[in-house]
Amino acid sequence: MTNAHRERSGKWAIYEQIPRLPERPAEYEAYRYPVPPGMPGGKYVVSGYDLDRPDPLQRRGRTLSHVGHGGLDLPQVKGTPVALVALEHQQGEAEVLFAGKLFGTTVITRHAVREGGRTRDYLVLYGHLDSIAAGASPGAKVPEGTVVGAVGDTGSPELVHLHLEIRRVRDAVDLGKVPAGGSLIAESVSVVCDPRNVLPLK
Ligand SMILES: [Zn+2]
Repeated sequence: MTNAHRERSGKWAIYEQIPRLPERPAEYEAYRYPVPPGMPGGKYVVSGYDLDRPDPLQRRGRTLSHVGHGGLDLPQVKGTPVALVALEHQQGEAEVLFAGKLFGTTVITRHAVREGGRTRDYLVLYGHLDSIAAGASPGAKVPEGTVVGAVGDTGSPELVHLHLEIRRVRDAVDLGKVPAGGSLIAESVSVVCDPRNVLPLK
């Protein structure tokens, strides 16, 4: 599905995105996350996925430097371990594809997911980390519960939170031929999706 938002320059940015499937619960509290709830009342998410909303309803960044939000922001105490969760219908173990600078200090994992009678690759991006765990180096297989890093505010000074973003790899893409890093989140390689489509239910 395509959507658009108006950038600070005034130009319209058109992008693809995969909205929440109607059968998936809307409440963020129905899902499991890589960190414990960090908000009052057992809530996790301070700022949710809004790329499916009309332009005026999308998030404006603090400095109006960016528009829209393709992930979930999970506030937590700096240093809180970020423990990998397996996605719904995941096949086998996830694999670390990238660990370095992207959305601040960032780890990206690849997850093969069975859906609609076929297997697709999804990317999970953990952004603004304080540090990367020793075991989270590219190529490492990471079972459920593996700590990939610690919550921080790199690239988002003084806003300590985990930016959790999920992207579906395009069918024609061979990830083995995509350079690790920013290319993984290029629109030609992967499409941002509502994390509720694949996060595991509680
Ligand atoms: Zn975010």
